[in-house]
Amino acid sequence: MSAVDLDGWLADPRGGPYWAALQDGRLVTPRCRSCGHRTSYLRWVCPACGARGEADWAETSGVGRVHSVTTQHRAPAGFDLEPPYQVALVELDDGPLVLAPVPPGAVVAIGDTVRVTTRDVPGLGRLISVGPRS
Ligand SMILES: [Zn+2]
Repeated sequence: MSAVDLDGWLADPRGGPYWAALQDGRLVTPRCRSCGHRTSYLRWVCPACGARGEADWAETSGVGRVHSVTTQHRAPAGFDLEPPYQVALVELDDGPLVLAPVPPGAVVAIGDTVRVTTRDVPGLGRLISVGPRS
């Protein structure tokens, strides 16, 4: 049994496409149908052009630069990474910012070019993760 009710998240039209794509190993973000501006999460109004509720979910390459990074000294319940581990805020080349953990063995710094990918986390499903650009 999963520790997370993924079915509930998948059924939510505001975030379901994001979670469904993650389970397929893809990272998607909202993209305005009017101007193409991409955001980190679904918004009622596009911050670039003001269009209301008109966004699609579009796949991203996952490539971006580390905007900020911190070290996590406590892990959430059920999480598979042993603290301390890094958590990076990545500004994707497509525009949105995403926050993701850096797996053990990898270290990132502000300005590094990285790729946000997906990985299986036992009991939690497939989540995003930061790794080298390669
Ligand atoms: Zn727009």
